[in-house]
Amino acid sequence: AMTTAIRPEVRIAERAGFCYGVRLAIDKAKHARDEGKEVTTLGQLVHNPGIKADLSDRGIKTADLADQVEGGTLVIRAHGVPAGELEQVRGKPELEVIDATCTWVVQSQKAAAELAAAGYTVCIIGHEDHPEVKGVRSYAGDKHVVVDDMDRSTWERVPHTKKIGVLSQSTILPYKLEEFAAFCLRRCHDLRVVNTVCPVTLTRQADSVVLAGEVEAMIVVGGKNSSNTKELAVKCADVCPATIHVADADELEAEHRDWLSGKASIGITGGTSTPEVDLEEVRDRIYALVG
Ligand code: SF4
Repeated sequence: AMTTAIRPEVRIAERAGFCYGVRLAIDKAKHARDEGKEVTTLGQLVHNPGIKADLSDRGIKTADLADQVEGGTLVIRAHGVPAGELEQVRGKPELEVIDATCTWVVQSQKAAAELAAAGYTVCIIGHEDHPEVKGVRSYAGDKHVVVDDMDRSTWERVPHTKKIGVLSQSTILPYKLEEFAAFCLRRCHDLRVVNTVCPVTLTRQADSVVLAGEVEAMIVVGGKNSSNTKELAVKCADVCPATIHVADADELEAEHRDWLSGKASIGITGGTSTPEVDLEEVRDRIYALVG
């Protein structure tokens, strides 16, 4: 770091930080805990080490399966859960359920149910193993299919049929939904598309891409298993080839120290599950390393 005299200009994307769906779920869990309740979340509220530690310090527990919780207060996270699972936990007499499913996800679930009831074969584009998709598809009827936005070969799962209803996981890139809708149109007579790409994701992407276009290098901060963070990194790399994806400031320091030096301007953004403080920490670390 001593070999260069450049102090980089570091900027954080405008509308980065938690989306309100995730923030609300965290607030609901904390609030219930502050009231003295025994709070458990069904799955991690957010894939972020700092937040996970904070929640566990407050005494908020996490369970992977609904079967593991019989009493106290259970928080359903923003991604939502399959219909059967919600029914199961609501049926437990000793358990209070706080449903923090994001309103946008609830809309997708409702759209899936309505399309299926109206005789449409529901086709969902997203990641099969993503919890949100697992939840939404549980409302989509017997004939539904899920295809992967990153793997075109899976699109062949779409049947040639009369009526197709298209939905997407909330965090996929809008152009993927557009391409998939066009693909489905060639396989049916009556196509309905419900645009279930989350607007928060769109504004975040838009701001991040604008910033990526204005800087020499871009750092996307977020969990390596966060699909929207990965996609954000791809999107930024389109306009700023020197884009890297790191989990946090420590990874940046350990893996990309040399990469940092000599950069005149660096942009920072993060995924849905990356809090503002993580972005600030990365900024401060850059200054500490090369400032
Ligand atoms: S990304 Fe959008 S849909 Fe997903 S939890 Fe956040 S606000 Fe809700």
